[in-house]
Amino acid sequence: MVTEKFLSIRNLKKTYGNGVQALKGVSFDVEQGEFLVVIGLSGSGKSTLMRCLNRLQEPTAGEIFFQGQDIGKIQKSSEIRALRRKMGMIFQHFNLIPRQNVLKNVLMGRLGQKSNFQSILGIFSEEEKQEALQNLKLVGIADKALLRADQMSGGQKQRVAIARALMQKPSVLLADEPVASLDPATCHVVMDYLKKVNQELGITVIANLHFLSLVRKYATRVIALKEGQIVFTGRPEEITQEWFQKIYGEGAQDVSTDGL
Ligand code: ADP
Repeated sequence: MVTEKFLSIRNLKKTYGNGVQALKGVSFDVEQGEFLVVIGLSGSGKSTLMRCLNRLQEPTAGEIFFQGQDIGKIQKSSEIRALRRKMGMIFQHFNLIPRQNVLKNVLMGRLGQKSNFQSILGIFSEEEKQEALQNLKLVGIADKALLRADQMSGGQKQRVAIARALMQKPSVLLADEPVASLDPATCHVVMDYLKKVNQELGITVIANLHFLSLVRKYATRVIALKEGQIVFTGRPEEITQEWFQKIYGEGAQDVSTDGL
């Protein structure tokens, strides 16, 4: 079956080796250009979902159609690499190489498109370096290009990670808890750059977020997971107090990042 949707997830299930059913039949579509945020309690399956999308995790059952291609059927490692190029990923803990400079870290985003020989020697063209600088400029830290990654603040590190992901020229950016390690004020700065990438470059963003205040500010659509199942799909303003209680449980309270 080939669908016209940009990204289509059908009855996705993931059971880990220890028997935990992290996803119990999840289905939803993503339109190109959306800023989709996945919410839910810790352990509800958000990261698992994200990792199934680019085959960092193998789903147990179900289908994922990306730009018409059934990605579950991809066998060749070269095709999985090609898929991962189209799906850039940023992580809670940034995953930078601490002792390398910022520019080198950003250039790492291009490795997936190089021969083994070029990768091992770390050979990058002048054009690639200019592109890396351009991406650093986009996230406002071109002046930090020659500093070591471990000299950056948390927020700056995440901006380096965004620039690195952009080197892949992705059509989707998967952001797994992108601001969970940052202080509330810095959260907004990083989220603003994700929004810029989404709006100015037209890159679809799928992010897991904790703070509902951030969800309300940045998401164009929200999916809530509870115990491996979707319990809410809608616009952020549709998450009423009643929905909030259903998603997070009775007695749960929102923690605000506003006013910072
Ligand atoms: P979330 O991102 O919402 O916190 P996760 O996807 O990380 O949720 O986890 C969903 C469930 O799967 C949890 O019960 C978690 O303990 C379990 N889980 C996650 N990763 C693994 C793994 N590699 N092996 C076994 N169980 C896992």
